[in-house]
Amino acid sequence: MSVTTPNIAESRRLLVFVNPNSGPGVALKTFNTRIRSFLGEANISYDLIVTTHVGHCQQIIQDSKDLSKYTGIVAVSGDGLLYEIFNGLFAREDWDTMCEIPVGAIPQGSGNGLARSLAHFNNEPYLHDPLVVSVLNVVKLKSREMDLCLINTTNFPKLISFLSVGWGLMADIDIESERLRMIGEARFTVGALARVMRLRTYKATIFYLPVNEDTPSEEMPPLPPLDEPLPDQRWVTMSGEFVCVYSSMVPFIGTDLFFAPKSVLNDGIIWLMIVKVPISKFQVTQLLLSMDKGTHIQLPWVTFVPVTAFRLIPDKSVGPQSYLVIDGEKLDTQAMQAQIIPRKGRIFMR
Ligand code: ADP
Ligand code: MG
Repeated sequence: MSVTTPNIAESRRLLVFVNPNSGPGVALKTFNTRIRSFLGEANISYDLIVTTHVGHCQQIIQDSKDLSKYTGIVAVSGDGLLYEIFNGLFAREDWDTMCEIPVGAIPQGSGNGLARSLAHFNNEPYLHDPLVVSVLNVVKLKSREMDLCLINTTNFPKLISFLSVGWGLMADIDIESERLRMIGEARFTVGALARVMRLRTYKATIFYLPVNEDTPSEEMPPLPPLDEPLPDQRWVTMSGEFVCVYSSMVPFIGTDLFFAPKSVLNDGIIWLMIVKVPISKFQVTQLLLSMDKGTHIQLPWVTFVPVTAFRLIPDKSVGPQSYLVIDGEKLDTQAMQAQIIPRKGRIFMR
């Protein structure tokens, strides 16, 4: 599927963002020594922006008057800048056309879930040199439709998500291990060990809407505001103490985290995992360890369901040392709900 959207330029010109502080901090060097030449050889011109602060990329995307002159927008970073790109586009008045501009993911961060997932769809090995696989996905300038997710939280009424929502154990691991960014993706494993030793539980009520073959997710009406009851009797409710709630729209949420093995880019599905008490530390460890093969979804103490929407209402007792993590970005724990918007985004992929 090539880019034929009339509103999007076919000029072979990319807008490239580099986060110099991504992961081990070599993204700019990598761009100059290894990525630039690929673009040159493919006869692709580009404008380069090296981000200087959090929100820089999002602001530029949001305010740019001439975005449509670009064939696509590329992030040389972790998932963080991708989140800024999608949310920058989403904040624009012309979102309904600009959501069709393809986005490219060249992994340089400590969390590269989307790039890892694309390599999986390409059937390419990722561990040896993810860069080449990902650069090829961009320079071919071919793009595909991708599901996005609309999110409301108490403090942020309108967010867009392309990757994941986490709360409880795995969200806390992600955030607490941020100071280990320099060791790259291994930070997750090291952080996990520490967190399981001091396992916490979190009180909440969770509502989810299981995928229903009879009602395509396109036809789902918008969710009511967070403080109003949910309409449909098909919603499933779970209440009590949880260890973890995690959802993803892509198969890999990190290099070795094969979270949703059956996920594809445009399946219209949010893959939701719920882990409730009672559960032992041994069982939690087994859950985390089996995620590299994707076998955690068969564990009897794991609820793993394809849904089109969910709502999470944390209890007031949940303290400030726990987080709500959306596409790897940290928020304080707060009520939230998510709803799939099938095939709304585009991503560069061969
Ligand atoms: P990582 O995978 O290591 O977390 P990301 O590229 O995802 O790397 O970036 C993490 C965060 O860094 C993002 O939230 C982004 O907003 C922020 N950021 C972007 N540019 C800069 C910068 N120059 N200095 C510090 N943080 C930045
Ligand atoms: Mg999907």
